[in-house]
Amino acid sequence: MRLSQRLSRVAPSATLTLAAKAKAMKAAGQDVVSLTAGEPDFATAPHIIAAIHRSLDRGDTTYTAVGGVPELREAIAAHHSRDGVKYTAEEVVVSTGAKQSLYNAMQCLLDPGDKGVVIAPFWLSYADMIRVAGGEVEIVETDEASDFLAAPDRLDAALAGARVVILNSPSNPSGALYSAARMSALADVIREHPDVVVIADEIYDRFVYGDAAYVSILDVAPDLAERTLLVNGCSKTYAMTGLRIGWACGPKPLVGALTRLQGQSTSNASSPMQQGALAALTGDQTPVEEMVRAFDIRRRFVVGRLQAIPGVTCFEPSGAFYVLPNLSSYVGRTLPDGSPIEDTFPITAHLLHDHGLVVVPGGPFGAPNHIRLSFAADMEQLTKGLDRLRDALVAFG
Ligand code: PMP
Ligand code: GLU
Repeated sequence: MRLSQRLSRVAPSATLTLAAKAKAMKAAGQDVVSLTAGEPDFATAPHIIAAIHRSLDRGDTTYTAVGGVPELREAIAAHHSRDGVKYTAEEVVVSTGAKQSLYNAMQCLLDPGDKGVVIAPFWLSYADMIRVAGGEVEIVETDEASDFLAAPDRLDAALAGARVVILNSPSNPSGALYSAARMSALADVIREHPDVVVIADEIYDRFVYGDAAYVSILDVAPDLAERTLLVNGCSKTYAMTGLRIGWACGPKPLVGALTRLQGQSTSNASSPMQQGALAALTGDQTPVEEMVRAFDIRRRFVVGRLQAIPGVTCFEPSGAFYVLPNLSSYVGRTLPDGSPIEDTFPITAHLLHDHGLVVVPGGPFGAPNHIRLSFAADMEQLTKGLDRLRDALVAFG
């Protein structure tokens, strides 16, 4: 069958493909440790589930407004309002996951050939979303030496002629987190490029560890609100990945455009799940705090174990729930079967087939010498997974 040219610009999502593969292997009875998708292993809190049940029981099974029910949009607007930036319900669109808001934003902002800027390592879907909208991806490189933070002068160079820049702090996959000073430095650069729209993907805003604090670009540069789209959702914070509620807040013309597009594609997000999201945002936040505390313990454990593997270095993430160990010292060597290691793809394939460990290669995230592990898994799985990784790597030629 002949498929559109457009589709040739999209690769299958490596995170979702590998997570599905791990699930299928487990279902077939194989002993598999999956440290793939960014999906909290915690249960959705009972008060959220109860709100969804109540919603279904009272018959919330019809369409809602495309952009979401007013009470949820108001709660989201209040949640993201801050000194210098106040949102109203009309400046919010609720979607079927943050992913949909991001996708729609690219569709609404980019024409063929337009430049979208991402900071590497980046969440892999950004690049495909830009490309499928016809845009060209420009990458600002970072590395461990700079804590995976973008240098303002590099960002400045990339923003020349760009339409969109995506910021993601805390970052998937690196866990990098911008301090107020570092974020201000980026804002100063962005201010000099008045045609650039900022997409601030803050889906990991609550996953911040140690002394670090989360800072939004809107905290340090409220003046940029008129050209910033703030994206967030329930998936990570409230362990609701499969329930698919996300949203975007921003200037009315842009939010209106996202809503118009959504009205011709998926319409409203699931109506009982919108009630679950309302309960999540307005209800008890203790489960979130408990989850983040547990993740912090895992984070320190995983980083310590990775740093102890010969030839592996690992940046300590300040946020999100991934680690991105650097396996450069293995690149250029050979697998036990003699095949060459040109980047971490063959390593992850070997881990999957010969060691029952599923992790994501760094290539699709713009970090070809790294692998990404999610620590949203329990300690037993993490311990087993790290044992397997160490045993596999020490056997390399
Ligand atoms: N942004 C980032 C950085 C992510 O890691 C994810 C994970 N899925 C999303 C957005 C989208 O999340 P969702 O569609 O589940 O709300
Ligand atoms: N964002 C998560 C991840 O990076 C979930 C999977 C996905 O949507 O890509 O693993």
